[in-house]
Amino acid sequence: MLERDLKGRGITDPRVLKAMAEIPREEFLSDAYRPQAYDDGPLPIGLGQTISQPYIVALMTQELHVDGNCEVLEVGTGSGYQSAVLSRLAKKVYTIERLSELFESAQAVLSRLGISNVEFRVGDGSCGWPQDQLPPGGCFDRIIVTAAVPKIPEPLTNQLAEGGLIVMPVGYGALQDLVVGQNKKGTLIERIVCSCRFVKLLGKYGFEG
Ligand code: SAM
Repeated sequence: MLERDLKGRGITDPRVLKAMAEIPREEFLSDAYRPQAYDDGPLPIGLGQTISQPYIVALMTQELHVDGNCEVLEVGTGSGYQSAVLSRLAKKVYTIERLSELFESAQAVLSRLGISNVEFRVGDGSCGWPQDQLPPGGCFDRIIVTAAVPKIPEPLTNQLAEGGLIVMPVGYGALQDLVVGQNKKGTLIERIVCSCRFVKLLGKYGFEG
């Protein structure tokens, strides 16, 4: 997977490649899907949701430029795979999931893997992390949304540090734009990376459920 689907398609950051190599994707899948763990595609994780394609996980991680000082917010925990990859690169990951069943299973997998720098929460991540429980700096250095939004939710940009990066799929259709934004003095400077296909983010600043 590393050679064929990641390095072969432009994932060059050695820290991202190392994190992808270290996290066993099969641990996040039910027995029925484990044989396909290293195929480059999304797979069902129940409740109509999916674990993202490895290439997209690596690409979004690379675009985030996470280092060991970063406090990272992830919206859409799903299986917990992206959180686990980020945990290898960040100081701390805060991840929020709307479905409590997925929240519970993701928490159990990361605990089994001995990952301790991820904080989990159930709720509507389109509204951001609760304001009274933000990291010590009062905002996040990096934000990743792993479900499609109609437009970038304002509560998320309000929680992004000066100079910070946000990555998410934006669009109404079956295909969306993968957008990277940087907070420059309160203005979000946006760039489209590629097309992508994600399930919808349902919530107050997402799609209607
Ligand atoms: N990052 C995940 C992984 O590594 O497995 C994949 C995420 S999956 C493509 C999208 C997830 O977003 C689903 O688990 C879904 O329940 C969740 N979701 C949808 N709307 C949400 C919301 N408003 N807040 C938090 N999570 C949400």
